[in-house]
Amino acid sequence: MPIEKTSTPVDINKRRIINGEDADVMQLYPMKHTFAWEAYNVGNANHWLPTEISMQRDIEHWKSPTFLTPEEREAFQTVLGFFTTADSIAANNIVIAFYKHISSPECRMYMLRQAYEEAIHTHAYQYIVESLALDEGKIFNMYREVDAIYNKASFVLTFNEGIFNPEFKTGTFENDQKFLENMCVFALILEGIFFYSSFAVMFGFQRQNKMMGSAEQIQYIMRDESQHLNFGINMINTIKEEQPELWTPEFQQHIVNLVREAATLEYTYAQTVFPKGIFGMNAEGFKQYIEYIADRRLSRVGLPLQFNVTNPFPWMSEAIDLSKEKNFFETRVTEYQTGGTLDW
Ligand code: FE
Repeated sequence: MPIEKTSTPVDINKRRIINGEDADVMQLYPMKHTFAWEAYNVGNANHWLPTEISMQRDIEHWKSPTFLTPEEREAFQTVLGFFTTADSIAANNIVIAFYKHISSPECRMYMLRQAYEEAIHTHAYQYIVESLALDEGKIFNMYREVDAIYNKASFVLTFNEGIFNPEFKTGTFENDQKFLENMCVFALILEGIFFYSSFAVMFGFQRQNKMMGSAEQIQYIMRDESQHLNFGINMINTIKEEQPELWTPEFQQHIVNLVREAATLEYTYAQTVFPKGIFGMNAEGFKQYIEYIADRRLSRVGLPLQFNVTNPFPWMSEAIDLSKEKNFFETRVTEYQTGGTLDW
C-alpha cells in the first residue's frame, strides 16, 4: 500500500505495543515506549563478541584426560545441547512471530537489536563447540534427541502455532490474548526460566575454576538475556495498561498454570540430566531454585507467587540477581566501555 501523503504528524497518544491506531512504524520519533529505547541503548553499550574471549585454557582443560570428571564432561555437553538451539528458537519468535505485529517503532528498534543478540549467543555456542572440537552434529541435535531438552523446546514451540500462520492478525480479543500468551511464554518462560538450571551449571564450572572461557561467554549471554526478559516484561505490562480487557482473571490463571508447568519441566530437566547432582547442586536444590525464579517472574507481571521458597543457590543470586540488575548493568556498561573484562 502506498504511503498516505499528509502534513499531519502522527499522534503518539494512539501508539500502542500492538494494534496502534496511528501506527506509522517508520517514525521512531516522537517516542512513547521509552523503555524500548533505553533497552536499545543498554544493548549497544553491552555489545560483545564471542571471539573476544580467549578459549585457550578451556581447550587445555578439555584436552586433559583427568582435569574434568566424566560427569562434568557429560554435564558440560548437555547444557550446551540445550543452549545451542534455545537462542535460535528465541530469534525465530522475535523475527517471525513478534516483529510483524508490534506497532511501536521504538519496540521494533529494540527487537532488531535483540534478534542480533540471539544470533551472537548462537555464535558463542558454535565457538565453544568449535574451540573444543566437540561433536557438533551431536550437540546441535540434542534438542531432538534428549527427552528433557526436547520437552522444553516442544513446550515453547507449541505457542508459535497459529502466530506463525501468515494469516494471523492481532485486533480481535481472541488473537490479542493468543499474542499476549506467546509473549508471556517467550519472555517469562523461555528467557526467564528455561535457561536458569543451565546457567547455574556453567557458573558451577566457573566456581571450580574450570572452563572459565566458556563460563565467561555464558555470563555475557546471561547479561543480554536479563535485558531480553526485562524488555518482554515491560511489553507485557504495557499491553496490560493499553488493553486491560485482555488481562482477565481466567487469562491470569492460565499464565500462572503455564509458569507452573514450565517450572516442573525445568527442574525435571535438571534432575534428569544431573541425576547425581553436580557442584553441590542436588535435585532438591534445582527444584527450589527454579521455583524461586518462577515466583520472581510471576511477580514482575503482577501475578501471585506460587511457591514462596528461598533461594537455595545464594551464590547465583550474587552473580545474577535481577533485583540488583540496575546497578549491575550500570557498572557493567561502564566497565565494558572502558575495556574492562567481565568480573563480578
Ligand atoms: Fe534472549
